[in-house]
Amino acid sequence: RAKQEGRDAACFYDPRVQAVIEARTALEQGLRLAIERQQLCLFYQLQVDVGGKPIGAEALLRWNSPERGRVSPGDFIPLAEETGLIVPIGHWVLEAACRQLVLWQRSPLTAGLTLAVNVSARQFQQPDFVERVANILAHTGADPRRLKLELTESAVIGHVEETIQRMHHLKELGLRFALDDFGTGYSSLQYLKRLPLDQIKIDQSFVRDLHEDPDDRVIVETIIAMGLALDLQIIAEGVETREHWRYLAAQRCHAYQGYYFAKPVPADELNVSGFMGPAESPGPTTQSRHPA
Ligand code: C2E
Ligand code: MG
Ligand code: MG
Ligand code: MG
Repeated sequence: RAKQEGRDAACFYDPRVQAVIEARTALEQGLRLAIERQQLCLFYQLQVDVGGKPIGAEALLRWNSPERGRVSPGDFIPLAEETGLIVPIGHWVLEAACRQLVLWQRSPLTAGLTLAVNVSARQFQQPDFVERVANILAHTGADPRRLKLELTESAVIGHVEETIQRMHHLKELGLRFALDDFGTGYSSLQYLKRLPLDQIKIDQSFVRDLHEDPDDRVIVETIIAMGLALDLQIIAEGVETREHWRYLAAQRCHAYQGYYFAKPVPADELNVSGFMGPAESPGPTTQSRHPA
């Protein structure tokens, strides 16, 4: 009987599945220790206005693993979400970002910058999220009006009322909200109408092929027109070329982020000195209702 069971179990043994499970477990264990071993750090990617002037930055998480090298968030955030590790990690991110923000507040060159921080669905849904943010603001001394939280539609699904209420609480503290990866989710339009958002980020997948794909142009134009009508600030992600910038500027997009301007870099490598002279300013500048 025991022998029989053993043989049945063996039938289910697949070395490839086993390898995947082991790799996952190892990744999870590594990630669990990453905070206390101080292997996490934040990179910052500049955001500019239509004239190329720096107006803010997005904090982007990096994991420097001794075994794996620099792991990008795409390779560990999903696992962190699944295992709940995203909660302590996200907490660390907010804290580190606020400490950076305080440093910026102290220098005239950087005092006007906003700092955008990505917040995962699971992290945002923690019952004590608002309290934690308030605590971090209080003990770091970061200016809440300079802090922007980036949510994706997945943060909202199934928790609309709660999310709206929580957003209002945080907005009372002075924080602002961006809807990240806009256009890639399910019921974008519903959320757009109901959430107290300040900014939408046009997903880079629509920006990438602007010049080859007329469908993407229609989508981008529609998102911008809709955002303008709803009085939201619009930022395009993944701006990689001057042509992207020109095109989006002609559509009256407010803000820009992408490799054309700057890659994500450590805080001390961030170039906020306004690297583009006005002579290089693209096409028509528009009257923004959302000055930096
Ligand atoms: P995201 O928030 O949409 O961030 C934009 C991603 O696009 C970043 O990738 C950035 O490096 C990349 N990017 C920026 N400009 C360009 C460009 O011109 N071309 C291309 N091809 N890519 C560009 P990254 O840093 O690998 O982050 C990936 C995703 O991981 C982020 O997407 C965000 O969803 C998540 N993430 C990053 N940091 C955090 C964090 O602290 N917490 C949470 N919960 N998620 C994070
Ligand atoms: Mg983001
Ligand atoms: Mg995005
Ligand atoms: Mg993304």
